[in-house]
Amino acid sequence: MKQAIKYQVITLFPEMFEGVFGSSMMWKAQKDGIVELTTVNLRDFGLGPRRQVDDTPYGGGDGMLLMIEPLWRAVEHAKAQDPSAKVLLMSPTGDRWNQASAQSYSETAHGYIFICGRYEGYDERIMQLVDQVISVGDYVLTGGELPAMTIIDSIVRLIPGVLGGAESAAIESFSDGETLEFPQYTRPEEWNGMHVPEVLLSGNHGNIAKWRAAHSQKAA
Ligand code: SAH
Repeated sequence: MKQAIKYQVITLFPEMFEGVFGSSMMWKAQKDGIVELTTVNLRDFGLGPRRQVDDTPYGGGDGMLLMIEPLWRAVEHAKAQDPSAKVLLMSPTGDRWNQASAQSYSETAHGYIFICGRYEGYDERIMQLVDQVISVGDYVLTGGELPAMTIIDSIVRLIPGVLGGAESAAIESFSDGETLEFPQYTRPEEWNGMHVPEVLLSGNHGNIAKWRAAHSQKAA
């Protein structure tokens, strides 16, 4: 059997991942041996009796930064589990993630290590170990955990065998980079006076395809 691809997340809040990794498609992809989703608790690499992981920035400024030593050791630990893994750092300053990124990451044979920043960020020297810095959008979150979850979910669902039919991912929004999916309906045919478009009930596949094409929008 093919070896499961490893996704390791370095975080101070591993419990945040329990729900996401333990539900739905992410759970199924692990059960089927397609991926292995694990967390590395940055606190385990903290310094001193209080397992310190953060300190104030040189040059002054508000807030705290993740210190280089615990972060470095956590990445080395994750690399030891999966030497060919690529290291991804979550940051609003990074390359913007999109569906094309998810598609290309879903086609690779190696694993990924995600670094979740916290507080005001991280000591820049960690860049020495980072392959790519990734942003999920032009806004600032309190940590890299939600970005890591978003990115992992968007990749894993595209790995062959995870979603039901290959069709479901092939025709959905952004699969060609710009088209948004057409409106969809399920039972009942009428709800509070609102009807399902007649053509979708017709069984005429040509007309249905035309209607769907006409009702697919282009992303702005
Ligand atoms: N001071 C930083 C923001 C820190 S937010 C700045 O101004 O750029 C704390 C952490 O949350 C970041 O280190 C990063 O890991 C994560 N984060 C916040 N917003 C993000 C985004 N849009 N994309 C990816 N990671 C993000």
